[in-house]
Amino acid sequence: MTTNELLAWDRAHLWHPYTSTIDPLRVYPVAHAEGCTITLEDGTRLTDGMSSWWATIHGYNHPRLNKVLKEQSELMSHVMFGGLTHRPAVELGKILVDKILPPGMDQIFYADSGSVSVEVALKMALQYQLSRGERQRQYFATIRSGYHGDTWHAMSVCDPVTSMHSYFGASLPIQFFVPQPSTPFDGVWDPEGDEMRPMKDLLQEHGEEIAAIIVEPVVQGAGGMYFYHPEYLNQLRRLSDEYGCLLIFDEIATGFGRTGKLLATYHTDIIPDIICIGKSLTGGYLTLSATCTTKEIADTICSGEAGCFMHGPTFMGNPLACRVALESTRMLLEAPYEKRVKEIEELLRAELTPLSSHPSIREVRCLGAIGVVEMRDPVDMQKLIPRFVAEGVWLRPFGRLVYIMPPFLAITDEELLHLTRGLTKVILDS
Ligand SMILES: *Cc1c(COP(=O)(O)O)cnc(C)c1O
Repeated sequence: MTTNELLAWDRAHLWHPYTSTIDPLRVYPVAHAEGCTITLEDGTRLTDGMSSWWATIHGYNHPRLNKVLKEQSELMSHVMFGGLTHRPAVELGKILVDKILPPGMDQIFYADSGSVSVEVALKMALQYQLSRGERQRQYFATIRSGYHGDTWHAMSVCDPVTSMHSYFGASLPIQFFVPQPSTPFDGVWDPEGDEMRPMKDLLQEHGEEIAAIIVEPVVQGAGGMYFYHPEYLNQLRRLSDEYGCLLIFDEIATGFGRTGKLLATYHTDIIPDIICIGKSLTGGYLTLSATCTTKEIADTICSGEAGCFMHGPTFMGNPLACRVALESTRMLLEAPYEKRVKEIEELLRAELTPLSSHPSIREVRCLGAIGVVEMRDPVDMQKLIPRFVAEGVWLRPFGRLVYIMPPFLAITDEELLHLTRGLTKVILDS
């Protein structure tokens, strides 16, 4: 097939994320990717500012990750996890428990994707409440502008209005929503303020029906790229204890160093009951996620009528994915990730902040290796992306948000400047 034939077949037959078959968005054919460069079939080189949706950490085509992937494939690519186990699953679990997760969180359920790990977390919460005889706890509470995935129950806790799921409204499970926290990450928390009021009121009225509260800690990703104050989470812990709900942190986007800490949980003083991880768990190589909880919660679930946790995906604990995740996590822990992410944050801030005086821009905000330019009006993605490509950068805005999220342990300052300058040029020209 020539490149044009390939694109024509793709257009006629392949669905891409959130695209129409009637009027498909343009897609670019990638020939290969290495480091932070994505190379198209015609030789065009693009600096990657997306980390393939929060996933890539060490860059593409990394020799160390390639090596373990090849070695593992020569041992076994997959075996079922029912009744069998293997070194990659155990060694990955051990490094997660010993080095990544907070103390006490030592029970790990491997799943295939972020959305599935959220489904698993919600099922865990329901089974936990059921085991404790709390049958009426059938609902979940969350904050607005969240994003937790595209599968059924995960969708139900995404923002009901702005999420891409509003079209399913009538047949989705009904959940409880409170407004987004109002104090930004670097704002001043007012202990006398009433930011917790909506959640308190909700729990006072419906606390007995709620199995768990689920939130993305500190950084709300696909629901709006908003960074809120960690004290909100300390307060949520207090409230969930008071009302007997579990607290679930969806760290699928924030986990593994993106915000400068191994988990966004470490910006807070508390430990949630369940943590979901995914995306950069494998450094962006393969799909793998995990739902992590405490022994106490796991045992409570298993002491119930069912006698076990009722879930078990076919590709659970896939050895290739676990082996790559283990190596990626080792590489992250060996790297000065905290320092590098701080430097990236400073560079993004210095480069992007001047844009905030532009009349079509509402706000510029940076946290860790995430730089966000929020426009006043929704951007025309179809128009902007080709202009970014012409500047040699790969950025994919959505809604009013144009953002940079580079593979933080691979990107050089020069590549970062290429991204920020490409973004600036395109926005100022549009
Ligand atoms: C991406 C994401 C998910 C869903 O993960 P998938 O792997 O796409 O299913 C869930 N929660 C958050 C916070 C995410 O960013």
